[in-house]
Amino acid sequence: MAAAQEVLVPELPEVELTKRRLEQELAGRRVAEVVTRAPKLRLPIPGELATILPGRIIRGVARRGKYLLFDCETGWLIVHLGMTGFLRFLSPPSPPGKHDHLDLVFDDGSVLRFHDPRKFGIVAWTPDDPLAHPLLAGIGPEPLTAAFDGDYLFHVSRSRRVAVKQLLMDSATVAGVGNIYANEALFRAAIRPDRPAATLTLHECGRLAHTVRAVLEDSLRQGSTYRVAEDSVAYHPLEFAVYGRGKGDCTRCGGTLEEIRLGNRSTVFCPRCQE
Ligand SMILES: [Zn+2]
Repeated sequence: MAAAQEVLVPELPEVELTKRRLEQELAGRRVAEVVTRAPKLRLPIPGELATILPGRIIRGVARRGKYLLFDCETGWLIVHLGMTGFLRFLSPPSPPGKHDHLDLVFDDGSVLRFHDPRKFGIVAWTPDDPLAHPLLAGIGPEPLTAAFDGDYLFHVSRSRRVAVKQLLMDSATVAGVGNIYANEALFRAAIRPDRPAATLTLHECGRLAHTVRAVLEDSLRQGSTYRVAEDSVAYHPLEFAVYGRGKGDCTRCGGTLEEIRLGNRSTVFCPRCQE
């Protein structure tokens, strides 16, 4: 029986690549108008955007975990892509489609458009430090910084009975690692995804911190292979070693990959190579 098709949810590399693309496209543009076509995504879209943003210049775009942070002079627009969210810069803009919930219209007529069929994305506003916003304040270290290493992972896993894969996917442990890259990093580290986190040795934690970083960096490097679909599906990332390949062949030993559910998420691993 074929496993249910999972949506390729954007994780850290997809959000980081979005950030880099939008920074080039948006920096220095002045907002003229905000058009909201849905009152609510995962949270209500703040109505105050229509009065706050016109006249403001987008000074830059930052990222924290899977959140995009737009520096709008007097505050920050915070955007999470959710499961199916996608941000497109359109110049000139096409007519909006069914799932185009929000447009920032710039003074030259170009548009930043938020498209999100499943409406799991978030659009929020803060006049204060965005890193202190309740949505972001509890996020763990960025995996591509020195703060995320084997010592850290060993320390935070000591009292945890949860499976190591679920620990990795918890944004309080580390920012931006979701189902895809957790599967991939555990395969590369030769660690079974269902191991209780507290059973990992310091050596294994070091290996895992390294492979988490490596799978994310590989994906960022291959970013040029991402293609933007016309309307719906946002990303077509790299080929995966295990993710989405349940019952396929292990690229390391040639045996058959196993698929289980952990936290109701598809989890694929090699029972011979990972222990
Ligand atoms: Zn194998």
